[in-house]
Amino acid sequence: MKVAQLGSGTPEVAVLAGVHGDEPCGVRAVERILDERPTVERPVKLVVANEKALERRVRFVDEDLNRAFPGDPDAKTHEGRLAHRLGDELEGCLTFSMHSTQSYAEPFTIVDSVSETATELCQRLPVMAMVETGEFAEGRLITEAETIEVECGQQGSETAAQNADRLMRTFLTATGALPGDTVQRELPVYRLTDVIPKESAETYEVFVENFTEVEAGETFAAADGDEQVAEESFYPVLMSSNGYRDVFGYAAEKLEVLDAQTAAD
Ligand SMILES: [Zn+2]
Repeated sequence: MKVAQLGSGTPEVAVLAGVHGDEPCGVRAVERILDERPTVERPVKLVVANEKALERRVRFVDEDLNRAFPGDPDAKTHEGRLAHRLGDELEGCLTFSMHSTQSYAEPFTIVDSVSETATELCQRLPVMAMVETGEFAEGRLITEAETIEVECGQQGSETAAQNADRLMRTFLTATGALPGDTVQRELPVYRLTDVIPKESAETYEVFVENFTEVEAGETFAAADGDEQVAEESFYPVLMSSNGYRDVFGYAAEKLEVLDAQTAAD
């Protein structure tokens, strides 16, 4: 784990990259801002989490770090021990954790529950949706520290790296660490309602778009040609054919669309 800081004092804002070793976008954003060392108006902690997995370009060494929280100093796994240290390091910090996916190119945020802070901030970021994990947050950092996770785009893409940079700077501006203004945008809010399991198979297919409603009776995926049909309508989130080992992704409901800020009367 690499920890650095911009500005002096005790940071209450943190940027986190490299929770998953095969998602380099956030690491590039952190390295770039560390090279630039901009003047900040409040201190910022910068953390690159799983250096060992990043070196090997794998998601994790022993287990998924984002399912290993709260962790333990004596854990048998590298990620179990790292989760514990990371939890300590980020204590008291509002944390912006950058990820990328195999499922969707447009950035969106993931939060544990929709707190006022999270809502206010997410509306100021260039994202197309906010997803509330609800009961599906077990083992995530989200449950340990106040965290906004952001999916920056397709894993390994140049666009995801550019998005990560822009998202991180907007987050730092919205929290008052970097100078400037942000605008409040319209923001759809979703909540996860179910996992969509996948049977062990040779080939997987997904026929639907994330964040586009799947109707009851629609065929949304297949495992070795075995079609899966929706029993009721849902919004697919983080859904991809090969993104996860044992699930296609999640089903979500659309809660509301938050309004853009209108000019003061
Ligand atoms: Zn990730």
